[in-house]
Amino acid sequence: MARNINEDMRDWVGMFPSSAFADGKCYLIPGFGNSCVFETQEGLVMFDVPIRQFAKRTFNGVRSFSDKPVKYFIYSHGHFDHAFGYGPFLEEIKNKGWEMPEVIAHENCIRRFEKYQTLDKYHNWINRMQFASIGGRMQGSVISPHEILKPTIILKGNESVFHFKLGKTKFEIYHDMGETDDSIWLWVPEKKIICAGDLMISGFPNVGNPYKVQRYPKDWALAMGKMMGKEAEFLVPGHGRLIEGKDKVKDVLSITAEAMNFVHDEVVKRLNEGKWFEQIYHEMVDIFPDKFKKSIYLREMYGCYRFAIHAAYRLYHGWYNSGNPTDFFPAKSDEIAKELLKINTKETYLEHANLLFNTGKKQLALHILDVIIKGSEEENNPTLYEALNLKHKILKEKAQEDTSFIASNIINNAALQIKEKLKLLKKASGNS
Ligand SMILES: [Zn+2]
Repeated sequence: MARNINEDMRDWVGMFPSSAFADGKCYLIPGFGNSCVFETQEGLVMFDVPIRQFAKRTFNGVRSFSDKPVKYFIYSHGHFDHAFGYGPFLEEIKNKGWEMPEVIAHENCIRRFEKYQTLDKYHNWINRMQFASIGGRMQGSVISPHEILKPTIILKGNESVFHFKLGKTKFEIYHDMGETDDSIWLWVPEKKIICAGDLMISGFPNVGNPYKVQRYPKDWALAMGKMMGKEAEFLVPGHGRLIEGKDKVKDVLSITAEAMNFVHDEVVKRLNEGKWFEQIYHEMVDIFPDKFKKSIYLREMYGCYRFAIHAAYRLYHGWYNSGNPTDFFPAKSDEIAKELLKINTKETYLEHANLLFNTGKKQLALHILDVIIKGSEEENNPTLYEALNLKHKILKEKAQEDTSFIASNIINNAALQIKEKLKLLKKASGNS
């Protein structure tokens, strides 16, 4: 299924075997995101369903452990990889004449489903860019947001809590914001298990995703604190392998809370000092503590610290973020580039971009190359071709170097588009 992803990301996308754990009646079944199934005398409780493309695989996984009917589905949140792969379960319910299960979610999950229906083409477009390196089944088929299994038990408001019993087992559900505003997590006291959904993803939190709506670093830290209070022995993350052992669970929750508090509070401090985004961002990058950088629990394999800075800033700031009135209602960037090319030639810019690239200043080289790429009037120009070629090379290198799956995909996807453009230009010049 997956190309170009490292070992950590293989775990993250669920490429590891299903297993029974705790008292042997709890099952962790990966299906891109994780599903966790609890077997009781009266049936199954299933925390998260898989992404639709992996529904059959997860269904078979569940049925390899137990043939009892599913009595409860719980959606940790309404993302595609946690709330859409229920199909084979419904089919089985119909075939066997079983009762429909309850579906538990937060009220904001319903709003999310409505949003997905309004913006289905848009989400499909941004997700194609975010997951550009995952080929095959993930890319080929689009998940329709119009087919949903509606929640029947809905947690409301910010303080919402819901408890229920199945067989002799008590299940406690709490709402906290973090990756999303609709997240709920599960605590099973008798088994000392927390199912965290994407509040825990075996790496740096996915906070500040470049394409997505606001996420909540401070609330994330609060959620970690609440989970710590449970003294769990098992922590089931939304992605990646089971976290086992009281100390390990505590360590991962506490360093995640610390990192979220750090990003939030340091950005707030700088806002109070009257700093604009550019200054805040670069200062924050410079002070990223080694402790977080080196933590195995905060590996920047999906989200990353740089994204988190944006998330904290966006919580409190509007769209005017440079403080320079030139940027307030700016001219078109290609018009600015055209003017710059009147001052100096494309060749001079290219020469300088090469100099920057050769001295390791890749980012600056990109800015200079954009003057040629955006400002060139005629398409069929060898200097433009060379500029695009160097941009492609730099982007490929940057994508390779970046450990964040999302960052790497965004950069790589742009490189692919440039490659297509280069092919067209080559063809055109060959024909002329
Ligand atoms: Zn997820």
